[in-house]
Amino acid sequence: MLTKDAIEQFMPKFSINTDTCIQCHECEENCPVQGIDIEAEPPRIQDPCIYCWRCVTICPTLSVEADWEPLVAMAPTNYARYKNELDKVAARGGFRWLVDPETIVFDDPLYKQRQREIKSKE
Ligand code: SF4
Ligand code: SF4
Repeated sequence: MLTKDAIEQFMPKFSINTDTCIQCHECEENCPVQGIDIEAEPPRIQDPCIYCWRCVTICPTLSVEADWEPLVAMAPTNYARYKNELDKVAARGGFRWLVDPETIVFDDPLYKQRQREIKSKE
């Protein structure tokens, strides 16, 4: 079973890069569980946390940092498993692919796209 304890084993641990953080408080204000305190020394994050990744996706300076590589490495295997199950359901008429599943690839993860986007604005 996928419990909170199990999720914590493989989810990335976040940290706030205080060199690039502009103290806009967007992450803090949008965290659904008040798990962030930007004014704390050092800033508090993921305490508590439900792994929604909202803070990561809205930070305008990409200052909520994490090592995403382990998750990225797991993605193709996980996807192959989901695809296998979804194909079985599709064969029974209970699911329909809206995109060609063979076009779903993992070689340009979202965090790298955002890094490029931020760099291009510098
Ligand atoms: S991942 Fe979600 S719950 Fe966790 S600290 Fe960020 S915004 Fe809060
Ligand atoms: S959203 Fe990013 S820049 Fe704004 S306070 Fe949070 S970590 Fe700092």
